[in-house]
Amino acid sequence: MLNIILFGAPGSGKGTQSKLIAQKYHLKHISTGELLRTEMKKQSELGKIAENYILKGNLLPDEIIMDILIKNIDDDLKNYNGILFDGFPRTLPQAEMLEKILHERNTEITLLIDLKVNEEELIQRLLKRAEIEGRNDDKPDIIKKRLEIYVQNAEPINEFYKKLNKYIAIDGVGTVEEVFSRIEKVINSKLNEAEN
Ligand code: AMP
Repeated sequence: MLNIILFGAPGSGKGTQSKLIAQKYHLKHISTGELLRTEMKKQSELGKIAENYILKGNLLPDEIIMDILIKNIDDDLKNYNGILFDGFPRTLPQAEMLEKILHERNTEITLLIDLKVNEEELIQRLLKRAEIEGRNDDKPDIIKKRLEIYVQNAEPINEFYKKLNKYIAIDGVGTVEEVFSRIEKVINSKLNEAEN
C-alpha cells in the first residue's frame, strides 16, 4: 500500500495538493478537517462539539479525532492503493496511534511530505481563502492561533517520522502545478525504491 501523510501549516496547500495526489495515485483521501466540517454542516452531536474547538482555532482532543479516523479508515479501503492523510496527524500522540492502527492492518506510512511555506505567504493565502470560501475559521485572530498551535506540534511529529526515515520536506511556494510536480517526483522515487 502507498500511505502518505501530507503535512504542513494551515494555508500550505494541503487540501489542494491532497486532491491531486489522491487522484493520480488512486488513494483514499482522508481529511479530518473536511470530515469535521461535514458534521458541522449536519449540526450532528459531533459537529456541535467540533464547532467549539474549530472556531477558537483549537485542535480537537486526540480521542475524538482517532474515533473519526478509525471509522473512516476501513470503509471501502480495498478499492484504493492506499491512504492520503490530509491534516492528520496533528499531534505526536496521533502519529503514534496511527502507527499502531496501520500496523494492526499490516501496513505502514510510506512517507510524510512536509509542505514548507513561509508565514507571510501563509497568512496572505488564508486571508484570500477567507474571501473566496468563507471558511469561518479563516479570521485573522483564529488564523494566528491555528498557526501558533501548528508550530508547537510540528517539530515532534516531524522528528518522529525523521527517525523512521520517512520524512521529506518540499518547497510549497509556487503554482499548484509546480508544487504538485515536486510532490510527484518524491512519491515516484519512493515507489521506484520499493520496487528495486
Ligand atoms: P483543516 O481543514 O485540516 O485545517 O482543519 C480545520 C480544523 O479542524 C482545525 O483547525 C482543527 O480545529 C480541526 N482538526 C482537523 N484535523 C484535526 C486533527 N487531526 N486533530 C485535531 N483537530 C483537527
